[in-house]
Amino acid sequence: MNVDEELRKIKEEVLACKKCPLFKERITPVIGQGSHSSKIMFIGEAPGAKEDATGVPFCGRSGDFLNELLSFIGIKREDVYICNIVKCRPPKNRDPNDLEISSCKNYLERQIELINPKIICSLGRYSMQFMMNNLGLLNEIEPIGKIHGKVFNKEGRVFIPFYHPAVAIYNSNMKDSLKKDFEKIKEYVD
Ligand code: URA
Ligand code: SF4
Repeated sequence: MNVDEELRKIKEEVLACKKCPLFKERITPVIGQGSHSSKIMFIGEAPGAKEDATGVPFCGRSGDFLNELLSFIGIKREDVYICNIVKCRPPKNRDPNDLEISSCKNYLERQIELINPKIICSLGRYSMQFMMNNLGLLNEIEPIGKIHGKVFNKEGRVFIPFYHPAVAIYNSNMKDSLKKDFEKIKEYVD
């Protein structure tokens, strides 16, 4: 299987996708960005306004803080892969709903399989729930305030749930908490 080729197919499918009502208001879907052979994958929630306008994940204010977190632990953004559970922007940045998540999840499941990261980092509670379900860890789910920064080993992967970087924009305690949690990633890269 050719990973680049399969990822290109996903991109084409998403660009044409009308599986849920979010296609109607998007400018462009946000598919994913980064190294196709990355050992680390970040999974956010859904695009915001700037992402919708550019097609680039985490390129707005949350993205600025994600970049800061990555440089804090000495990891280059181009060396990781970044995507979202939902590929099109929900109106007014509302949370994605169950229908949108279930309509869109096949793309993400295939991205995970193709990139085959050793470490998966979820950003926010929706992607935490998605991954706990995906890895068969549903009976270990806790609220994001408790589960953030915990390390799970399952199906040959390391999974670490994080707060969404957006929560730290106006809250320096959250910023410190995210930085502390991000240090865990370092323990699992070579
Ligand atoms: N928030 C997300 O969850 N994803 C993005 O791509 C941007 C902001
Ligand atoms: Fe398709 Fe996902 Fe966009 Fe819905 S959010 S239209 S399922 S790509």
